[in-house]
Amino acid sequence: MKTEIYLDYNATAPIRPGVEEAVLGALRVAGNPSSIHSFGRHARKTVETARAQVASLVGARPEKVTFNSGATEGNNSLLKAYHGQGICASAIEHPSMLGQDHDPQMIRVTPDGVIDLTHFEERISASPPPALVSVMMVNNETGVIQPVAEMIRLCHARGIKFHTDATQAAGRLPLDVFMLNADYMTLSSHKLGGPQGIGAMITTNDTPPPILLQGGGQERRYRAGTENVAGIAGFGQASAHAQEHLPAFQELVAQQSYLEQELKGLHNELVIFGENAPRVANTTCCAFPGLSAETLLIAYDLDGIAISSGSACSSGKVTQSHVLKAMGCADHLAKGALRISTGWATTREDIDHFLTITQRILKRVR
Ligand code: PMP
Repeated sequence: MKTEIYLDYNATAPIRPGVEEAVLGALRVAGNPSSIHSFGRHARKTVETARAQVASLVGARPEKVTFNSGATEGNNSLLKAYHGQGICASAIEHPSMLGQDHDPQMIRVTPDGVIDLTHFEERISASPPPALVSVMMVNNETGVIQPVAEMIRLCHARGIKFHTDATQAAGRLPLDVFMLNADYMTLSSHKLGGPQGIGAMITTNDTPPPILLQGGGQERRYRAGTENVAGIAGFGQASAHAQEHLPAFQELVAQQSYLEQELKGLHNELVIFGENAPRVANTTCCAFPGLSAETLLIAYDLDGIAISSGSACSSGKVTQSHVLKAMGCADHLAKGALRISTGWATTREDIDHFLTITQRILKRVR
């Protein structure tokens, strides 16, 4: 049988141990968390336990965690809340934070994919200043870590609110939203090994969460709709597991450098995007000059390897990445960009198998 290897954690990570049991456990007991009978109280307890687990992962106070359907919803709710007041986002944000109107003044990044702090300061010093600045903590395509703490300090000195999309950072970097003092943080459970379709808006200070959905009084009236109790239970368990295994995640650094060195050995012109910037340990975005991502993805898939080209949200159609474009990457290289993303269950054997298959594919297509 063909070995199936999953190296697409930035699209969706495999569920962590205990998540399936937590989801099924919640599904097996009927009960709406808003009901006052014992079934309702049981569901409420499930939700509040998970809230504490998610809060603990990101250093938030539990009452500042508002469950929603994921980072797209969280990001969109901010776009809507601040519409017309001036939102300044970076050029490498996820499309859910970029909005419909293309902002030509988006904060630029360096060729290594890190926010250009000079341009950032220029943008936040504009008159009138933006009401909200949004810069993701870790980019989903390149894994590049952004200097968010510094940017928050600069924004707060000017009375500007700051949002960070921490979807690709949670469970990968030690996070403390309270220390960081970000006004808003958005998360998606499935990127850290929980179920899909559940996430959270985290707030700090006295900043209330933006309201997108109105109806029942759920989530302290900030997010109406009966809670996705099973999803929340799974998200909580994934957060607890991720927090406990954060030190193990750092061990992926060695695996990442092994992978990248070996890939360079297979093709000496390999380009690794963001190579010289601080990056999370699980992401390698690279291109073999002259080879298209489309061809390679199909070849890998036939050999049982799941990887991505650029952002998975745009896969199916291999469009050029706006992130690589913002980094000034030449079109022909961007067309070849592959994203290999590993995680909590990736082994050295998986990497070795990937390398063997890569060698075989390169021989075939070069
Ligand atoms: N932000 C980032 C950084 C992401 O990587 C993603 C998922 N690709 C999202 C937001 C959107 O997450 P979801 O699809 O779970 O809403």
